[in-house]
Amino acid sequence: MSKKQFKAESKRLLDLMINSIYTNKEIFLREIISNASDAIDKLCYLSLTDDNVGLNRSDYKIDIAVDKEARTITVSDNGIGMSMEEAENNLGVIAKSGSYKFKDEMKDKEDKPEDISIIGQFGVGFYSAFMVADEVTVITRRYGSDEGVKWQSSGADGYTVTPCERENVGTDVIMHIKPDTDDEIYGAYLEGWKLKALVKKYSDYVRWPINMDIEHQERFETGEKDENGNPKYEYKMVTENQTVNSMVPIWQRSKSEVTDDDCIAFYKEKNRDRKDPCALVRINAEGMVSYKAILFVPGEENPNAFTGENKSGITLYSNNVMIMEHCDKLVHEYFDFVKGVVDSPDLSLNISREILQHDKQLQVIGKNIEKRIKDELLKLMREDRDKYNEFFRNFGIHIKCGVCDEYGVNKEFLRDLLIFFSSEDKQITLKEYVENMPESQKAIYFASADNLKHAMALPQCDEVRSRGYEILYLTSPLDEMVLGTLMEQDGKPFCNIVTDDLGFDTEEDKKAAEEKNIENKELLDFVKEAVGDGLTKVTLSRKLTKMPCCLTTEGGITLEMEKYFHAGPSAEMRQLKADRVLELNPEHKAFEALRNAQANDPEEAKKISRVLYGLAELMAGVEVEDPGEFTELVSELF
Ligand code: ADP
Repeated sequence: MSKKQFKAESKRLLDLMINSIYTNKEIFLREIISNASDAIDKLCYLSLTDDNVGLNRSDYKIDIAVDKEARTITVSDNGIGMSMEEAENNLGVIAKSGSYKFKDEMKDKEDKPEDISIIGQFGVGFYSAFMVADEVTVITRRYGSDEGVKWQSSGADGYTVTPCERENVGTDVIMHIKPDTDDEIYGAYLEGWKLKALVKKYSDYVRWPINMDIEHQERFETGEKDENGNPKYEYKMVTENQTVNSMVPIWQRSKSEVTDDDCIAFYKEKNRDRKDPCALVRINAEGMVSYKAILFVPGEENPNAFTGENKSGITLYSNNVMIMEHCDKLVHEYFDFVKGVVDSPDLSLNISREILQHDKQLQVIGKNIEKRIKDELLKLMREDRDKYNEFFRNFGIHIKCGVCDEYGVNKEFLRDLLIFFSSEDKQITLKEYVENMPESQKAIYFASADNLKHAMALPQCDEVRSRGYEILYLTSPLDEMVLGTLMEQDGKPFCNIVTDDLGFDTEEDKKAAEEKNIENKELLDFVKEAVGDGLTKVTLSRKLTKMPCCLTTEGGITLEMEKYFHAGPSAEMRQLKADRVLELNPEHKAFEALRNAQANDPEEAKKISRVLYGLAELMAGVEVEDPGEFTELVSELF
């Protein structure tokens, strides 16, 4: 019997399959099972209008059988089967398949993904069997036909099709598993536990039962008794035909059937998380794009977040068949802590991460999902603030990074989710801050430091608080960038109480202050000289009430940014320094002492200058330049 040749493009794909450039070989089972499930769908559909089919819904099934000695895996279905012509057309040609079409479309595009030439990146349906098998035999009988067909191929050199016997309608795909190599133990696929695990992983929600023989140990009474008169047992391996897939996935069931608690139990099992999720989103979308989703915001940050090992938690299904785990292109990075499942019947099985980015439907789904997640989080914020605060403690950093990323394109979407400390135990949104502002207040004041206590203790806070204005206390340099990106809230600008003009002074006040600076120029220059190089300027402060001095900056780099740069990996960034300004409180007795000393004892005045600078550094939460000298100077005061 002469061999028929594959069409050229099929041959190429087969070559790739056989030479196994595709690393994720295990998906072959998913592909074969999906075909079986589709074939059953077709016959089941036909039976609605054709009484001759003679099968009940409960009769349909997919069987997996392993013959270790013969090294074969057989996947059988009682679906619609194929005629001889269909077997030739469907199994001998690949041009129709989604992956080939995609590759063809991408061929002429300039911005094609780099590894587009590696067709093995895609799901490839039936041919994927050749990744693990050196010979594939298909025995099939089409519904309505009396005769079966045997299709057989050992790879790229062609295939044969011959008539054969098959008792019932349906299809067997018999894969003869390749011999083991140094790199790949193909024989592992002949282990029942391995196949079961693959069914669970990829095909758990195929709606027809997938049955296979599973071996397990069972305890039997031997009939004898031990010395205490208790029955003796022996253990034997027993083989039992089991349905290994769960079939109906939780997200396909209606809300009335599945409670939120059921969903939470599903989440905990799937993610091996003992903690309840802090938010749950259930979606059943119908319309332009249909999909079902169950999504969870975990109760705790994944310890692997930011280590590069954090895998996005959304798994993509198409009609209950898993097509991608860790689908990281569905939602933006700022929501990559969200876990769960999205199932859309409109998606092709042959999807890859590369295609995903170009897929309009997925983009619509992603956008939709993001909106629903945000709404759920806003609801949590309204209804359970403590829980929201906990969420923000865990995941706030994702939201903040999301605001700053890509030059702030997503800032408006994320703005309302941000909260900041306004006192030790209260966090508020920017909107709430603005709503609480008295009429007279023109700006949103914020104070930045390493931690809340430091921020609240900044000497510049007094003046703002004394007017009854709230301050947002920022505790990370990222926070400053967030506000810098947002620029305003409801038309109110942000004001850094350390570096910015607080806006309290009239033009006259400013003029008077300027004159006072000029009057004291000699003293201020003296202090600058005494402190040395680290300081850009010394000025009289208009912000201080109780404290003798404070440290501020001028120019674009604040002290918090400087700390951030210094902790970072870039040597160039570590060179960046804020331009420091020492502000002195002219109403404070320390200033009086300084002035007197300058007139009578310049050495003493130098020391006072350095002490004041050291104090200002301490209060600003930056390292004192010379702690030894500073301690000595302070000790001398006694
Ligand atoms: P796809 O499923 O993406 O169309 P495949 O290469 O997996 O591509 O399969 C090609 C075709 O072969 C299927 O569309 C189907 O018509 C036919 N086929 C494959 N497996 C079976 C089966 N078990 N029963 C009936 N037809 C099948």
